[in-house]
Amino acid sequence: THFGNSEVQLSEKQGLVDDVFHKVARRYDIMNDLMSGGLHRLWKDTFAGKVNARGRRGFRHLDVAGGTGDIAFRIASGAAPDAEIVVLDINGDMLEVGRDRARARGFSGVEFVQANAESLPFPDAHFDAYTIAFGIRNVPRIDLALAEAYRVLKPGGRFLCLEFSQVTVPGLDRIYEAYSFNVIPTIGKFVAGDAEPYRYLVESIRKFPAAEEFESMIRKAGFRRTGFERLTGGVVAIHSGWKS
Ligand code: SAM
Repeated sequence: THFGNSEVQLSEKQGLVDDVFHKVARRYDIMNDLMSGGLHRLWKDTFAGKVNARGRRGFRHLDVAGGTGDIAFRIASGAAPDAEIVVLDINGDMLEVGRDRARARGFSGVEFVQANAESLPFPDAHFDAYTIAFGIRNVPRIDLALAEAYRVLKPGGRFLCLEFSQVTVPGLDRIYEAYSFNVIPTIGKFVAGDAEPYRYLVESIRKFPAAEEFESMIRKAGFRRTGFERLTGGVVAIHSGWKS
């Protein structure tokens, strides 16, 4: 595989990521349930619960790398009817699945926009909150994505990121390692017909910066009152920051 190879240029990385999500788009939601044993639902509930949209008139929310809408729908169900909720993703196939789900569930107010997290098609200081769930790991230039998050948020706006992290519980780390290297690609092979995208997934999790380092990147982008919280022994973490 070339996915884990450091010689892969940044520009190529995006192409590889796009192929992965093009291949899995239609089976993405079922794969999440299978691979996380349903845990992703709890993580997403906790994550979306941190966005305090309830009762805030004209609340503007941006969910980047929003894929099939999991985070946006959770936020939309608690938000005022005049809230502006945007799902942004680079991949048209993922957005198409998201649009179908939005129609089926009656989330008519959620907008879908195809664009790159590194260059957002929105004016400065437009949104009250920005979320990115299991997405920033896939973005080739994380610093650009963070700078864009900062730019489009209003002063006082909140940045929230849900991402795989490092297991900090002794014993669980071994189990997790074995699970990710053996079980995940195997499930991928049987359900999506291809193990390769899931090898990429596991590789990209391993290469993602440690929570402390990622927090300092968030601070470097300008965010203040930053912090993170580990869930499920550190399998995932929620990072938070505010634009001052
Ligand atoms: N947030 C959704 C969720 O939690 O179910 C989807 C996460 S999925 C693992 C990662 C998503 O990131 C894919 O839909 C992919 O197309 C998107 N993505 C990858 N690179 C991107 C980029 N540069 N800009 C925007 N989205 C990107």
